[in-house]
Amino acid sequence: MSRDFVEVGGEEPPPDQRFQQLKAFHSAGRGPWAGVPDVDWNDWKWQLKHRVTTVERLEELLPTLTPTERAGAILSRTKLAMAITPHYFNLIDADDEHCPIRWQMIPRQEETHTASWEMSDPCGEDEHSPVPGLVHRYPDRVLFLVTDRCAAYCRYCTRSRLVSNASGYDFHPEFDRQIDYIAKHPEIRDVLLSGGDPLLFSDEKLEYLLSRLRAIKHIEFLRIGTRIPLFLPQRITPELCAMLRQFHPLFISIHTNHPRELTTEVRDALGRLADAGIPLGNQSVLLKHVNDDPIVMKALVQKLLMCRVRPYYVYQCDLIAGSAHLRSSVRRGLDVMKSLRGHTTGYAVPQYVIDAPGGGGKVPVNPEYVLSRNADRVVIRNFEGKVFEYIEGADGHPRFKPSENFHVPELG
Ligand SMILES: *Cc1c(COP(=O)(O)O)cnc(C)c1O
Repeated sequence: MSRDFVEVGGEEPPPDQRFQQLKAFHSAGRGPWAGVPDVDWNDWKWQLKHRVTTVERLEELLPTLTPTERAGAILSRTKLAMAITPHYFNLIDADDEHCPIRWQMIPRQEETHTASWEMSDPCGEDEHSPVPGLVHRYPDRVLFLVTDRCAAYCRYCTRSRLVSNASGYDFHPEFDRQIDYIAKHPEIRDVLLSGGDPLLFSDEKLEYLLSRLRAIKHIEFLRIGTRIPLFLPQRITPELCAMLRQFHPLFISIHTNHPRELTTEVRDALGRLADAGIPLGNQSVLLKHVNDDPIVMKALVQKLLMCRVRPYYVYQCDLIAGSAHLRSSVRRGLDVMKSLRGHTTGYAVPQYVIDAPGGGGKVPVNPEYVLSRNADRVVIRNFEGKVFEYIEGADGHPRFKPSENFHVPELG
């Protein structure tokens, strides 16, 4: 398990070696659950039932728990719950206090500090909810929050105001009004199921939900946002995949932040979804201690392509209450993006966005490639920092030939 990731000697390996280590696929293994029979381990309901949810169990499994983690785990009883599936727990490096899996999953005392600029609904979703659990922010699509449960709880959850206080694995109490709203708004052509995690529903329940949506004539496109393939690859059964493929076009967006999360089990689960004809995208959140590092991000996006997943978005961390210890800067985010574009496969390069605080929606933020633009030309910079000019007139046609000796300065 985590032993695979320990760097011998305690020194940082050279960047190239570190990159190769990050890119290697490993099994999550059985870790402390070594004696559990295969039938149980491979059963997603067993995994859910055996999640790590108490500080006592956490201490038992992770003797290197730090005081701030212990305090956080105790405080999580009254805040965003702690829950970690055995599969995902095995990715924790017990010998590394700064393990990227720990930062994402184990509560910390810092979560109780709310800065004055932090909010409980940072993306202003509640303001754009015509019906509870339905967010209609963009003209042609809705976000449908179908459940308030997840398989595990990310400490930076942007919807911590809604999730984990668990009303059960059932539809939202306003389910009929939600469906009714979508049916009565013909401008909605795209429904994004999220929550909570829609894949926590049984196959039957999910099938019912998807068929209700497919019965609405103007719905062209369905999507599911889920972290289950990472937390609970056992959930991605052949039966689930066979059920989902009836509802095409159906896309799935997964959420991974660190290459270690892409285990051999996860790769197999994603392969089953891809084989069912489901196009897969990934959303990451830029997080300090986890992935605000060009080497980590490059390993992640390349590994995603190997799992047939197209990196879709990287989000600047929302101003969610209690997340300051995980927030990286936009400047760093831009540096990470600069290190990807042109340096690796275009399909591997996600769009960096800020979900504008107060409900502005997703806004793309990009490193500068256009240095200047006027009536005659656009001056651009390539990924190596070299400068070029593109000649054009107001109607698109150049009015003169490019200067033979256009001065091409080198930028850093
Ligand atoms: C992210 C989001 C969507 C989907 O946006 P895309 O850019 O189409 O992926 C839809 N509604 C809401 C409220 C969202 O936050």
